[in-house]
Amino acid sequence: MSRREELAERLAVVEERIDAACAAAGRPREDVTLVVVTKTYPASDVELLAGLGVSDVGENRHPEAGDKAEEVRADLRWHFVGGLQTNKAGAVSRYADVVQSLDRVKLARSLSRGAQAAGREVGVMIQVDFDGTDPGRAGTAPDDVSALADVAAELPGLRLDGLMTVAPLGVDPRPVFDRLAGLAERVRADHPGARALSAGMSEDFEDAVAAGATHLRIGRAVLGERPVLG
Ligand SMILES: *Cc1c(COP(=O)(O)O)cnc(C)c1O
Repeated sequence: MSRREELAERLAVVEERIDAACAAAGRPREDVTLVVVTKTYPASDVELLAGLGVSDVGENRHPEAGDKAEEVRADLRWHFVGGLQTNKAGAVSRYADVVQSLDRVKLARSLSRGAQAAGREVGVMIQVDFDGTDPGRAGTAPDDVSALADVAAELPGLRLDGLMTVAPLGVDPRPVFDRLAGLAERVRADHPGARALSAGMSEDFEDAVAAGATHLRIGRAVLGERPVLG
């Protein structure tokens, strides 16, 4: 089987699962965007996915993400989904259409400066960490979300799209996704345009759809197991 056929097959299975999850939740399929997380996979896979109808891809590291965004010819939306150092924000804002991992004011300011310098608008989602036990984990505490949303919404060059979370390992993700949805509702009261809810990965995206996710970040279910953990 060619790589194209393999990706087509896996993508079709994922699409079927998304259709079924939307039907079960009584939600229109168009409300949910599949972001295929292509980290560690080559640019050639990204091109194949674009040819198969994928519109959004996700990457979690700079410069890997930037190199791929430059190499890939297809017109795609690039989502940056990884922890981001402030000193790399300028570079990332030149190619990312959306940064889903905004978790602090300093990073928001750097992304804003970078977006303005590049003459672009960068969408941002605030990454929320509901775990709180691991200081190394990316994400802002739930209590800090609304202040960060206010800052991001005001900064030139940024567009506040919504919220994102990565469910902690080894716990039932559904209550986490429900908390994210509740928090997002409060953010929308002040920022009606912040409608995105990015939740759900290969293992748990049905739960995310049930909780109202608008963006699913799916890697392995489409691309196969990663040879090296990304
Ligand atoms: C890698 C990654 C994903 C995709 O994970 P899979 O288990 O491969 O589906 C989603 N979100 C983030 C932030 C990631 O780093």
